Amino acid sequence: MAARVVDLAVVGGGPVGLAAALRAVAAGLDAVVVEPRARPAGGGAATGLEVVDKACGEGLLPGALAEVLALGADPPGAPLTGITYVQDGDGAAAGRAVSHDFTAGAGRGVRRTALHAALAERAAAAGVPLLAGRVVELVQDGARVQLDVAVPGAAGVEPLVARWVVGADGLHSGVRRAAGLEAPARGGAVRFGVRRHAALVPWSSHVEVHWGRGVEGYVTPVGPREVGVAVLGPRGTTFTEGLEQLPALAHRLGGAPWTTAARGAGPLRQRVRAVASGRVLLAGDAAGYVDALTGEGLRVGLASARLAVEAVTGERARRVADAYAAAWARETRAHRALTAGLLAAAELRPLRAALVPVAAAAPGVFGAVVDRLAR
Ligand SMILES: Cc1cc2nc3c(=O)[nH]c(=O)nc-3n(C[C@H](O)[C@H](O)[C@H](O)COP(=O)(O)OP(=O)(O)OC[C@H]3O[C@@H](n4cnc5c(N)ncnc54)[C@H](O)[C@@H]3O)c2cc1C
Repeated sequence: MAARVVDLAVVGGGPVGLAAALRAVAAGLDAVVVEPRARPAGGGAATGLEVVDKACGEGLLPGALAEVLALGADPPGAPLTGITYVQDGDGAAAGRAVSHDFTAGAGRGVRRTALHAALAERAAAAGVPLLAGRVVELVQDGARVQLDVAVPGAAGVEPLVARWVVGADGLHSGVRRAAGLEAPARGGAVRFGVRRHAALVPWSSHVEVHWGRGVEGYVTPVGPREVGVAVLGPRGTTFTEGLEQLPALAHRLGGAPWTTAARGAGPLRQRVRAVASGRVLLAGDAAGYVDALTGEGLRVGLASARLAVEAVTGERARRVADAYAAAWARETRAHRALTAGLLAAAELRPLRAALVPVAAAAPGVFGAVVDRLAR
């Protein structure tokens, strides 16, 4: 079978892949999104994307919301005006809290399905081509990348050739592995996240992070009568066990009915050797992940989609991978450092117990950190 040839193949049709494809098409590139959850229309082409739910805290911080709006999508949700940390559990500081309102304007709590649907709609309106299938092999040389795509219902694989590839295939990225960009895990806690939704009127327009003895719970208003609750903790922590360690949060939820089943993801920490190699650029969670604790995945991921397409369209003397890696490092440095620092403190029991009281004693510092993360 003759291979289809495109300028840019985006692997993965999650929020970051769709953002990359929208930017690529707007820049005049011949792009295609390869996604197993696309609805096949025959011959691998697809008529649209199946909107899927995913474990996510669903807080679009102000910078993430700006990226989404810039793509022409405007998903419904609930305004987010700041972040509150609450010391939960039974320690001496239980009940202490510290809050900060974003100075960069509001973000938005948006159900994952609403975000995905809004971006999928924009992609359809912009004529972004979709290929229903899963990338199972990737080989590159100096001039092009050859992808093998397993298409549902077809015998064998369909070849696809691209001048550039953006790997936006999520936390457990196969593109990252195939391009030799994966780095082995190196110490640190192995953490997972699990989330549910409860039917109740949000009691705050802040993302509220509850610190328990060994887990964190964070609450995001996502609609006029719905909040999302994500629990982050060590491997094996179930949603129910996590909530048992957060009595103040459980009290706040007050037995409201759950509207979704528990859905988890992890291990959260994923390391990379580099975010680009030759003609393959990683974006979103595929480019490595520290933790969901600071609720920044979408801002960083959507920014990385923009930077990847800028690097490809600004192509100069084969320096695309270097240009992208440098831009990615600049864009994500503060987020990675703050998340890793907070995690390191959270792993040490005495520091963990002191986090909220210390932040409450230095509200200016807390506010500066929140504003840095939000923009
Ligand atoms: C518990 C939890 C809470 C979080 N809370 C927040 C928050 O409050 N705010 C925030 O901004 N971020 C949060 N995040 C992070 C956020 O969810 C992610 O950063 C974001 O969803 C990443 O999007 P993505 O498009 O990179 O990956 P994904 O959404 O995972 O999309 C990857 C896509 O690639 C496709 N794919 C996979 N393999 C292949 C293949 N071989 N070929 C083709 N396609 C493939 C998949 O089907 C999928 O559609 C949270 C994460 C977790 C786990």
